[in-house]
Formats: sequence, C-alpha cells, structure tokens
Amino acid sequence: MPEMNEEQFTTEASVFLEANASRKAEQKAFVWGEGPDNAALFEEVDREQEQLDLAAAKEWRAQKFDAGFGWISGPTEFGGGGHPRRYERIWANLESQFDVPDSGFFGIGLGMVAPTILAHGNPEVVAELLPKMYRADLVSCQLFSEPGAGSDLASLQMRADRDGDEWILNGQKVWTSGAHYSDVGEVIARSDFDLPKHQGLTGFVVDMHAPGVEVKPLRQMTGGANFNEVFFSDVRIPDSHRLGEVNQGWSVALTTLMNERASIGSGSGGGGGSYTKLSAMLRHFELDNDSLSRQQLMNIFTYGKVLGWSNQRSLDALKAGKTPGPEMSLSKMGLTRQMQATCDFVSDVLEARLVADTGEWGTFSWAGFVLGQPAMRIAGGSDEVMRNIVGERVLGLPKEPGIDTTSPFKELKVGTQRNE
Ligand SMILES: Cc1cc2nc3c(=O)[nH]c(=O)nc-3n(C[C@H](O)[C@H](O)[C@H](O)COP(=O)(O)OP(=O)(O)OC[C@H]3O[C@@H](n4cnc5c(N)ncnc54)[C@H](O)[C@@H]3O)c2cc1C
Repeated sequence: MPEMNEEQFTTEASVFLEANASRKAEQKAFVWGEGPDNAALFEEVDREQEQLDLAAAKEWRAQKFDAGFGWISGPTEFGGGGHPRRYERIWANLESQFDVPDSGFFGIGLGMVAPTILAHGNPEVVAELLPKMYRADLVSCQLFSEPGAGSDLASLQMRADRDGDEWILNGQKVWTSGAHYSDVGEVIARSDFDLPKHQGLTGFVVDMHAPGVEVKPLRQMTGGANFNEVFFSDVRIPDSHRLGEVNQGWSVALTTLMNERASIGSGSGGGGGSYTKLSAMLRHFELDNDSLSRQQLMNIFTYGKVLGWSNQRSLDALKAGKTPGPEMSLSKMGLTRQMQATCDFVSDVLEARLVADTGEWGTFSWAGFVLGQPAMRIAGGSDEVMRNIVGERVLGLPKEPGIDTTSPFKELKVGTQRNE
C-alpha cells in the first residue's frame, strides 16, 4: 500500500469496510428480558461450530490482509503496511462498527507470539511465518506453562537437546489455550541444566503438526475446554526456528509475557457485566434504593473508569513506540478486580437464582461468569504475582527472599516465580 496520511488511511479503510462488510444494526437501548442473556467467560463451544467460526474468522483476516489492513504497522520488508502504530487503533475503531467474524482465535498469536517472533526470530523465519500468521494461514499458541512451572515459569523442565542443525524437544506443557486449532506454537524449553534456572532456557517456534506433538483437551469448571495439555515426544525443530540466542530464552519469554499482560489488561473490562446491564438488574429486582447494592454498583463503575484511563495511558505509550513494561500488570489487576466486584454484585443480587436454573432470563446465565472469573485471575500471571511485579519493578520494593538465581538448575528442588 503506498504511503498515506491519517486522513487517506481512514478513507481507504472505510471504503474497504463498506464494500466488504455489513454495518452493525443500530444498537437498541438495553431492555431487561430482551435479547441474549449470555454472560459466560469460557463458554462450552461445540467443536464443529468452533471449526466453522474459525474458518469464517480466517477468511475475513485473509481478505483484510490482502487489502493491506491485516498487519497495518508491520515492517514492509516482511509484508506489513509500514504505517504508524496509531493507524491500528483507527482501523480497530472503524472495524468495530461492522459485523465481522470474532477475531478471538488470533489474540494469542498476533497479540503475543508474533511480536516475539519479530523481536527475536531470524529474518528468514520472520519473513516465512509472520505474513502467514497475520493472514491467518497459521494460527498459533503459547506453550509456556508446565505442571510444575506456572508462576514459577523459570522452573520449566521441558528438555531441548541439540542434534546438529536441529533440536529435539521432550516434555509436557499444560493450560495451552487454543492448541487444538493451532498450527504453530512458541515454546520455551531447557537447553542447559547446568546453568542457573533463568539462564539455561531457549525459545523456539514449533510446528504443532510435527510428529511427536500430541494435544489433549482439558475441561474447565465452566464446562468449556478452551485449553489443553500438550505432550512432546522427540519433536524435531530446525535451529533456524530458534528464537533469540541459545540459553537466552528468558528474555524471549519476557517479551511475550509483557505483551500478554498488555492484551489481557486492555480487554473490555468485566466481560458480560456492563454497567447498563447491571443497573437494569438492580432495578428489575427492586434493589435500586438499597444503599449497599448501589455502592457495589458504583465500585464496578469506578473500577471500569480507572481501568479505561490506565489503559489509555498504556496505549499512548504504545503509540509513542514504547514496549509494554511492568506497569501493564496494573491493567491486568484492574480488570480482575473489576470482575471480582461484578461477581460479588451478581451473587448478592441474584442469590439462589445464580446457582439453580429457574429458566428466568438474565439470572442463571451469570453462573458462567462467576465460574469463569477465577481463571482470569490466574491466566497470564496470577493476582499475587502481578502484585509482586508491581511491588518490585514499579514501586522498587525489595525482591522476595529465597530466590535462587545462581545454583545450577539441576541442583534446585523448588522454583521461584514467573516474573523473576
Ligand atoms: C484460562 C487460562 C488460560 C491459560 N492459557 C495459557 C496458555 O495459553 N499458555 C500457557 O503457557 N499457560 C496458560 N495458562 C497458564 C497460566 O499462565 C498459569 O496458570 C499461571 O501462570 C499460574 O501458574 P500455575 O497454574 O502453575 O499456578 P501456581 O504458580 O502453582 O500458583 C498457585 C498459587 O500460588 C500463588 N503463588 C505462586 N507463586 C507466588 C509468589 N511468588 N508469591 C505469591 N503467590 C504466589 C499463585 O498466585 C496461586 O494463587 C492459562 C491459564 C488459564 C487459567
């Protein structure tokens, strides 16, 4: 796409969207009892429907990539548009006015894995993979957590052994969102057991269809199975698909984790719990004069506002070309606190209707939100770990005692934490 100013870009984007997508119907004012009442955070998705939704989402992404709107700020030498980052937001605002397939399938790949490949991959791999990822020819996942390494990510034990121009990976990953429909994954493995825990790790991009990769779904308490266990048995990866230098995988992982917190924290805030819906609930159950319920509702509203402003500050920093830093943990904490406040509110207002399905509109449907919310407090780094990051790296408090960063990994019995 030729170089264009902001106004030209906006015009081109609008023309493309008007020609290829339908405008969303004008939103009717919310009325209690009308329309869908789904509030679930991790829905039970029928696998066949999921495949259809994925195909539609891929088709739309390919269409916009081919028109120059799939990787707007990406470097032109790798197939990106070369535009300033703020054009991404212009596009997102315009696209949100149209009915287009859900892009959630690509959140991890494009929000976290692709920026890491761009930052740490060798130029041939960047040129090979990134256009395909942004065009959705390849969907990707993040293979970090293991049964014994979550918060304490640097304790991971998946082995990476060098064999000429290849690496052989053996071990198990867990909680891998979207692994069952992914084509590639970013994996961190231990390449040297004689080095201290953070120093013997190496990052790779793995082909999820390679021999030896086995994906098994894990069901959550919400009923959905959005994430998986992934087993690696003698999986071969060419050295060209290594990310960063050998044994420098920790900085590769940190690039991904900073982007992860940025993308989770900048989410809509509260899932199905918009302020309008919750205040309608309060009125419906004639609690709008109850001072405790009103106070709870205002708490949710206040969290939402503060989160919005905090995210705006981060987005401005991103627009100015800065990399997301430890302050992104604040956004993630803000989001989960708002969700917790929403859970407390609906539990108090709905009482037994939340746990016993009476068929009444807008009541039992909140169970899926309340059951899904704890996962949001864990995914991408738990609340406690976020507080540690803010304490140590934003407020400058002393580090947790007892973190062994000097002994060889093979001599350690327990780990420390993901944010180290
Ligand atoms: C919905 C969802 C999706 C996910 N998707 C992915 C994915 O796609 N890829 C992936 O790699 N992983 C994924 N994860 C895993 C996630 O990153 C881990 O669950 C998370 O890092 C926590 O690790 P853990 O489960 O091992 O818990 P643990 O680390 O064992 O933590 C257990 C408890 O101890 C607390 N704790 C641990 N260390 C400290 C400390 N130093 N100070 C204070 N408290 C501490 C924690 O806060 C927590 O309450 C996902 C998780 C969820 C819930």
